[in-house]
Amino acid sequence: MTPDRGELEDWDRRHVWHAFTQMAEYEPLLIERAAGCTLFDIDGRAYVDGVSSLWCNLHGHRHPQLDAALREQLGKIAHTTSLGTSNSTTIELARRLTELAPAGLEHVFFSDNGATAVEVALKMAFQYWRQCPEPRPDKNLYVALGDAYHGDTLGSVSVGGVARFHQMFAPLLFDVRRVAAPNPYRPPAGLAPESLCAHALVELEQLLEREHERIAALVIEPLVQCAAGMIMHPPGYLRGVRALTAQYDVLLIADEVAVGFGRTGKMFACEHEDVAPDFLCLAKGLTAGYLPAAATLTTDRIWNAFLGDHASGRQFFHGHTYGGNPMACAVALASLDIFEQEQTLARLPEKIAHLAARLSRLGEHPNVGDIRQRGLIAGIELVAARKSKTPFPASERRGWRICQRARELGVLLRPLGDVLVVMPPLSVSLEEIDRIVDAIEI
Ligand SMILES: *Cc1c(COP(=O)(O)O)cnc(C)c1O
Repeated sequence: MTPDRGELEDWDRRHVWHAFTQMAEYEPLLIERAAGCTLFDIDGRAYVDGVSSLWCNLHGHRHPQLDAALREQLGKIAHTTSLGTSNSTTIELARRLTELAPAGLEHVFFSDNGATAVEVALKMAFQYWRQCPEPRPDKNLYVALGDAYHGDTLGSVSVGGVARFHQMFAPLLFDVRRVAAPNPYRPPAGLAPESLCAHALVELEQLLEREHERIAALVIEPLVQCAAGMIMHPPGYLRGVRALTAQYDVLLIADEVAVGFGRTGKMFACEHEDVAPDFLCLAKGLTAGYLPAAATLTTDRIWNAFLGDHASGRQFFHGHTYGGNPMACAVALASLDIFEQEQTLARLPEKIAHLAARLSRLGEHPNVGDIRQRGLIAGIELVAARKSKTPFPASERRGWRICQRARELGVLLRPLGDVLVVMPPLSVSLEEIDRIVDAIEI
């Protein structure tokens, strides 16, 4: 017998432990189906998917081509292992990703989520310095940015810097050198906005000058630190970080788990500043929001250091059981086809401009401190006092309350503290953008 709504809510409260959620206060919202950018709950109520089902969905839900790709793959095989054997769908996706990615990223290691994509890059970098032609085993430290978020496994938490998420686990984490994130809305006291980029790069250069012989890699979320509250770096920062890491022989890990696949207006955020990293981490949008999958791309330089005969023990001792899963790869391939057929990227500028125009009207509100946008990623920072940029007391949960209100108006959003997040699917219509902004225009 199918359980009724009351039973489902009861079982949800009792048995399902939801991520980043206080279960004592949890109120179920049961999403049952979707079409395009609209989600429907169990009672048939419609909600615009304003955050792409947590930054994953690209072309809308139930896209006929994505659904068909999964059915077709299902007719062949659902899963086989990538440990030592292969599959035609997985191979095809690896090839497509290397063609799309910034220059030099020729090799793809598949895993199943964003945290593992970063974890893989961290461990590859570490092992690389032990096996490269002139080994540098002292290079075993990492540099990460303040307020960074790279996922929730212990390696990715170590490079993470969001105190609210990560402080609790500090005793379990490895040592990381941290540089301040250049935050145009909250720059260091007395610093002119136009000096922010140079200032941040000087801080990084001083660190690298001092410790480069011990630093294996730097990890960065290119252009936008999403989970930190949509901190958007000044232009030139990413390019500067690439130049400095190259100069000091520190590997660059670009975590494009959130910003990859069109969110910033280009396929990958690194393209905005002509940057080719040593590692590119992809997840969330990789499968257009359909299935868990991730990829870590890297260069010949790294790959070559892992080659040798079996007895040399140089292989990468790391793996995830479902990495390279054919169903996930099939839907990822179909998503890349849609980018071409629907000209997804070419259709973004109009949507990006429309979102900007609509959001600018919110700027008049006395409690809107900052509106920032990069492509179809937007953050609206709420403050108690605009001039002093004083935050509201966290206990007031202003961001959460506005999202609760938006939910009543048929728009599903999830805030980051007091930063309202708007990150709709790339297939969002101008009318749906209007509905999202209307729902937060209090
Ligand atoms: C979401 C996110 C991750 C973690 O991805 P999961 O699939 O949740 O493990 C890592 N890095 C960034 C930048 C993210 O936004």
